[in-house]
Amino acid sequence: MNEHRVVIVGAGPAGLAAAITLARVGIEVLVLERRVGTSPLPRATVLSLRSMELLRGWGLADRVLAGADDVEMTMRETTTVARVAEGTTVDVGYPSAQQSAVLSPTRAACVAQDHLEAVLLAELAALPARLERGVEVVGVEPVASGVRLTLQDHGAQRRTVRAAHLIGADGARSTVRSALGIPVSSSGATVAGARIEFRAPLWDVLGEHRHLLYAITAPAAEGVLLPAGLGDRWIFAVTVQPGGDLADHPTVADLRRRLLRAVDVPGLDPRITRHDRFSSRGEIAERFSHGRVHLAGDAAHRVTPRGGTGLNIALADGYDLGWKLGWVLRGRAGRSLLSSYEPERRPAVRHNLERSVDLSGAPRAAPLEVPVDLAGRIKHLWVAPGVSTLDLLDDGFTLLTADPPAWRQALGRPAPAAPVSVTGVSVLNARSLGLGPRGAVLLRPDGVPVAAWSTSPSAGLVQQAAAAFLDHEATDGAGSAA
Ligand SMILES: Cc1cc2nc3c(=O)[nH]c(=O)nc-3n(C[C@H](O)[C@H](O)[C@H](O)COP(=O)(O)OP(=O)(O)OC[C@H]3O[C@@H](n4cnc5c(N)ncnc54)[C@H](O)[C@@H]3O)c2cc1C
Repeated sequence: MNEHRVVIVGAGPAGLAAAITLARVGIEVLVLERRVGTSPLPRATVLSLRSMELLRGWGLADRVLAGADDVEMTMRETTTVARVAEGTTVDVGYPSAQQSAVLSPTRAACVAQDHLEAVLLAELAALPARLERGVEVVGVEPVASGVRLTLQDHGAQRRTVRAAHLIGADGARSTVRSALGIPVSSSGATVAGARIEFRAPLWDVLGEHRHLLYAITAPAAEGVLLPAGLGDRWIFAVTVQPGGDLADHPTVADLRRRLLRAVDVPGLDPRITRHDRFSSRGEIAERFSHGRVHLAGDAAHRVTPRGGTGLNIALADGYDLGWKLGWVLRGRAGRSLLSSYEPERRPAVRHNLERSVDLSGAPRAAPLEVPVDLAGRIKHLWVAPGVSTLDLLDDGFTLLTADPPAWRQALGRPAPAAPVSVTGVSVLNARSLGLGPRGAVLLRPDGVPVAAWSTSPSAGLVQQAAAAFLDHEATDGAGSAA
């Protein structure tokens, strides 16, 4: 039987984020993906500020932004595309370019999921990770010190592999979750609808001010129009309600007619390239972890398209699991660190899920949504041209201070199990971080503060804070660690 330290089921955003985070620190992962090729569907079209920060941290921001539509992160409500100038602009929870510039070294962006996945897959290929395509996981069985997986290879026989740790990132109908018998609870009504993907020169009509989405309100033309990639690729999505003006299963011809009414530009001839139906509701797994198995992304929770957060919370899950499992496998923390995964992720997931099932959940002010997205990471400040405080984060603990010699001396030996890199910032930046000229802040790799001091260091202070953090995780998670 093949033995692996980490197996990840699913090469969607959650699985790829976990795999890249682990492989970047040299941990070999095996990713198993049922699909033989990549999904051509644009699916999600928005990357939050935190998602873009993760991608920037991996050196992928430029490649991702190369496929972005250049838009304001707002919704335009308009009767039709032709009458867009008379419409109203509505905030949908994403920061504007100006707000992003204050909060972050990067910006939220309009990027189709198929472009993002292509960038992530290319990155993974350059790292110590193996992606096996055309392999479906059909059985998951916890065994002593790990998990046994039964795999069905495309057109071949079944085989078995064993994993010391398993990440189930296998989407909304997760086999991993079902095999472990983890129940899911649902909330809100099912959102059902249909969409077409098409190409048409709509930017020429929409003018200079471009938006992340357009809510079309003219009678019998209602729908949402989303830019979905370069070359004027668009999605037009409609929700279907019982007793509404659209048949339960609108045909391509029905959708085309509705689109033409929504656009209302004589002579426009959209080239429809895809058509599908969707149905989704808010769902959340009762537990995100079971022993050495952790669920990430849609496998752990599902949101409706309202708010556009499904992809972003999947990436955040994968990253969070990735760095924590990386610490455990490199002996920096006990396995109980993984017990913080669910308590830390569940509130953000719950927030987005509740928004997604709220019929009036689409309009939101950015100040309400951005803190949830940024998940407690330290403030971004420019410390040098092009260098953010976020760029100073190491893959162990990072101690930021305006007085590195004093803190290095106090750190002395022995260092905590996880290394501490002491990094200097200017007195001005230390002040902006809420530290005095002699103070310091101790950070996790994700930029979340573990402890902060405003006064001079004393011997053992940092070690105690680091140990207290790891002990706290151990105590907190004692009940759920396997
Ligand atoms: C048509 C469509 C439109 C969407 N539109 C939006 C949107 O506008 N905004 C938004 O935020 N979100 C949207 N979403 C949701 C968003 O795409 C998901 O939230 C996101 O992809 C979740 O990522 P994930 O990695 O958790 O799961 P997925 O992307 O579903 O990836 C799971 C992967 O696991 C693989 N897999 C499944 N089972 C197995 C198995 N047994 N063995 C091996 N591999 C397996 C699958 O093939 C898949 O590649 C949309 C989804 C769909 C389907």
